[in-house]
Amino acid sequence: MAGEISALAVAGIRPGLAAVLVGDNPASKVYVSSKIAACEKLGLASIQVTPPASITTAELLAAVEDLNRREDVDGILVQLPLPPQVDAKKILDAVDPAKDVDGFHPLNVGHFVAGRPTLVSCTPAGVMEILKRSNIAVEGANAVVLGRSDIVGKPMALLLLHANATVTICHSKTRDLPETVRRADIVVVAMGRPAMVTPDYIRPGATVIDVGINRLTDPVLAAQYFANFPARLASFREKGSTLVGDVHPDVANVAGAITPVPGGVGPLTIAMLMSNTVRAARMRAESDGRLPRNAKIPASAVAKN
Ligand code: NAP
Repeated sequence: MAGEISALAVAGIRPGLAAVLVGDNPASKVYVSSKIAACEKLGLASIQVTPPASITTAELLAAVEDLNRREDVDGILVQLPLPPQVDAKKILDAVDPAKDVDGFHPLNVGHFVAGRPTLVSCTPAGVMEILKRSNIAVEGANAVVLGRSDIVGKPMALLLLHANATVTICHSKTRDLPETVRRADIVVVAMGRPAMVTPDYIRPGATVIDVGINRLTDPVLAAQYFANFPARLASFREKGSTLVGDVHPDVANVAGAITPVPGGVGPLTIAMLMSNTVRAARMRAESDGRLPRNAKIPASAVAKN
């Protein structure tokens, strides 16, 4: 993204990302701080809004409206989960679609479904980058997506469909899950079920993308998952915890290509958030005349549907 960002800087535009972090959820704090660190590394502006966990829906709506109006804010991310008294849907719907860098707003989802250019959910967009940069052929491939959440599974399936894969979406009611998954050339797993996808699910040579992020603290399970990975088991025993995906580590011995957990899809999700912020800045600047439309700025960072 460096080329695009410095070209925007020449035009006087510094993309800015605002993160709304409500309360003290430790995992949310870690996620937001890594997003802010990514902004700093790239020279993007970052703004943190950190209301207390006791905030009401009306107060949080007012904070989002304020960010919608701010000229220096191009992207707004509301870190989930929100406290139970807050109407999360109302908050997400209040984000200006032009600043919706998470791609959650129904207007952006609608454009996405219709195959029009828009801001797309970061995790699935990152998976497409992984496939592209690893030269995995998507067109004509049989792709199976395990999971149908609005954040990962559904947009993932649509991106693969838009890229001309033949897509099957599986969920908790799918019958004969291993048999269905074994038909896939590309398997994307986003279930939140630690190490559930074992080697018998995978056709030898298939590409496996593991979106799952699960914290593992049980030494018995760790001994099972990492029986063939002594270094990972030793590291677990030293630290007392580790992250494991939804895919069993042994799948690495069957798959043609596989993303690691940690270090695979997670970092790409943050990269795509940055990419969406830069893209939102460019689109806003074009629409209010600060930048001529289709100015010759390298568009290497721009995520396409
Ligand atoms: P989610 O909203 O809980 O959705 C889970 C999906 O998996 C649901 O569609 C569910 O089916 C399906 N499922 C659950 N158990 C199943 C089973 N036994 N067999 C078949 N399908 C099953 O989860 P999510 O938000 O999509 O997240 C999924 C995982 O990805 C989590 O581990 C999360 O931490 C991780 N994640 C990672 C990133 C990243 O940056 N790497 C980003 C987002 C999420 P039903 O619909 O039938 O209930």
